[in-house]
Amino acid sequence: MVDVHTKKQRSRNMAAIKSCGNISTETALLRILRKKKITGWRRNYKKITGTPDFAFPKLKIAVFVDGCFWHGCPKCVLTPKTNRYFWKNKIGQNKKRDQRVNKELRKKKWRVLRFWEHQIKKGIDKVASKIELEKRL
Ligand SMILES: [Zn+2]
Repeated sequence: MVDVHTKKQRSRNMAAIKSCGNISTETALLRILRKKKITGWRRNYKKITGTPDFAFPKLKIAVFVDGCFWHGCPKCVLTPKTNRYFWKNKIGQNKKRDQRVNKELRKKKWRVLRFWEHQIKKGIDKVASKIELEKRL
């Protein structure tokens, strides 16, 4: 009985997260890149570790958009009240993986840019400027 309830709650949480998570932030970034005429990128670049959401292969810049929830954004702190252990564990694993990916990419001389979902939502222009700046370096 209890288990059924938590499962239900969990999938409700997941649905809520999905609807405002990575997919829309990626699309937002895609739009701004096009609008600002920033070129040379590939989407979901599978040729390198971590499959960056966007990558500039020639310049070796990898861009990740991290969902505040899934990647444990310190600013948003969104640990749900139910299934705390489950979520903390899951988010912890994601964070560890992010660090591992960063390390590996940097070893291969890639520059790694990571943006939080809230940065995309609240300051997409700044995000675009950072990418432009990084391209010029
Ligand atoms: Zn955040």
